[in-house]
Amino acid sequence: MVRVRFAPSPTGHLHIGGARTAIFNWLFARHNKGKFILRIEDTDRTRSTEEAIKEILEALIWLGIDWDEGPYRQTERIEIYKREAERLVKEGKAYYCYCTPEELQAIREETKKKTGIPKYDGRCRHRTTPREGVKPVIRFKAQNEGETVFKDLIKGEIRYPNNQIDDFIIVRSDGTPTYNFVVVVDDASMNITHVIRGDDHLNNTPKQIQLYQALGYEIPKFAHVPMILGPDRTKLSKRHGATSVLAYREEGFLPEALFNFLVRLGWSYKDQEIFSKEELIKLFSLEGVGKSPAIFNPEKLLWLNHHYIKTYPVDKLANLLKEFLKKEKIVDDVEDIDIKWLQEVVVAFRERSKTLKEMAHSCAFLFKPPEEYDPEGVKKFFKKEIVPYLEELVKELENLEDFSPQNIEKAFRKVLDKFNIKLKAIAQPVRLAITGKTVSPGLHEILYLTGKKESIKRIKRAIEIIKSQKEV
Ligand code: GLU
Repeated sequence: MVRVRFAPSPTGHLHIGGARTAIFNWLFARHNKGKFILRIEDTDRTRSTEEAIKEILEALIWLGIDWDEGPYRQTERIEIYKREAERLVKEGKAYYCYCTPEELQAIREETKKKTGIPKYDGRCRHRTTPREGVKPVIRFKAQNEGETVFKDLIKGEIRYPNNQIDDFIIVRSDGTPTYNFVVVVDDASMNITHVIRGDDHLNNTPKQIQLYQALGYEIPKFAHVPMILGPDRTKLSKRHGATSVLAYREEGFLPEALFNFLVRLGWSYKDQEIFSKEELIKLFSLEGVGKSPAIFNPEKLLWLNHHYIKTYPVDKLANLLKEFLKKEKIVDDVEDIDIKWLQEVVVAFRERSKTLKEMAHSCAFLFKPPEEYDPEGVKKFFKKEIVPYLEELVKELENLEDFSPQNIEKAFRKVLDKFNIKLKAIAQPVRLAITGKTVSPGLHEILYLTGKKESIKRIKRAIEIIKSQKEV
């Protein structure tokens, strides 16, 4: 049975590269009806935090990634690592090293001169007695001749010269085990069949393979996923914008959109762009993962998010919009909002909103009258000659019993007929009066959503403003 794992180090946010690794593993497990295991690699106690663990779990849950086992925590498995390290020492495959930092420095300089590579020369391999007052590390007796060869499921055959590998440390002098060692002990004891991870770990794999062999474990299959690069083709970093998953949630992205976007960073199926999760589970394979790095394109993420916003269930979207109205401090008491009305707002605004945050800000005028009006719009549309039209419109609107978009349209029509003018003559002035801006959803719709009393109030206010303008 397929068993894969996602093994984040909780030293910061879950960034989108990590999330993509999690998604690939999750899809691989679901496609193969296998298990997806979550393991927190927290042995680096100085850099790991509880806060980061919480955040990583929250981000995974938000993305809809569930795990079948775990979260295991390496700090709870220290005894297993200790036992396995001691076993290696007993079997003569690892040894205590008592070299001091100064000595190590000198050794590295020496080997660099001789071989071009700074590394440990293995001198404690033959030491038989401890050294007083020095806490030893445990080093692995690495094979440094020949090559380590393995078949990567994405990159093909990898040949790695063993002279690049020195007797690396598996347990530090404070007793804590190192990454390459624990990852092997864990992957083996958790029966991981496929190690799918970023190719920044490719150089670790030969060391890990040597450890599998020394420990007598079965070697899993490896799949190293190419990195994600920014639009300028350098490694994706903060310079390119938000990199943490939860930052995208804050910006108003839907989890389905980010999930879809991340899958397509490196994986493809024909030239299809939009996939449901069910479809991805059916279609995902490692053969679909490309060999070259993926380029992060923020425009495409926005495009996808817009697609998901347009097709999302309206009730869910209304609830999310509510959260954003609160978060963005547009409405204080969101619980007072009529949810049926808010669903109509969503329908009116989703065509023009790429994120929930954008939607919240573009519908903000529904909750408070404009504090200022677009100055260009004022110059162009708040003209004295339209005052009679607006006054007539107020009268017609006041007469409406049922303030529906259809009736609002009829009221407009009456005004147009009376003065024999085109809608153009009053559309923008009214829009500006209601929203303070020159762009918005349909005119009748925004009046309807703003409500009768408030719409009339805003048009009257615009009339006053126009009247009080000085002639130029
Ligand atoms: N903890 C490692 C990381 O976050 C994972 C290494 C692995 O997948 O083997 O990079």
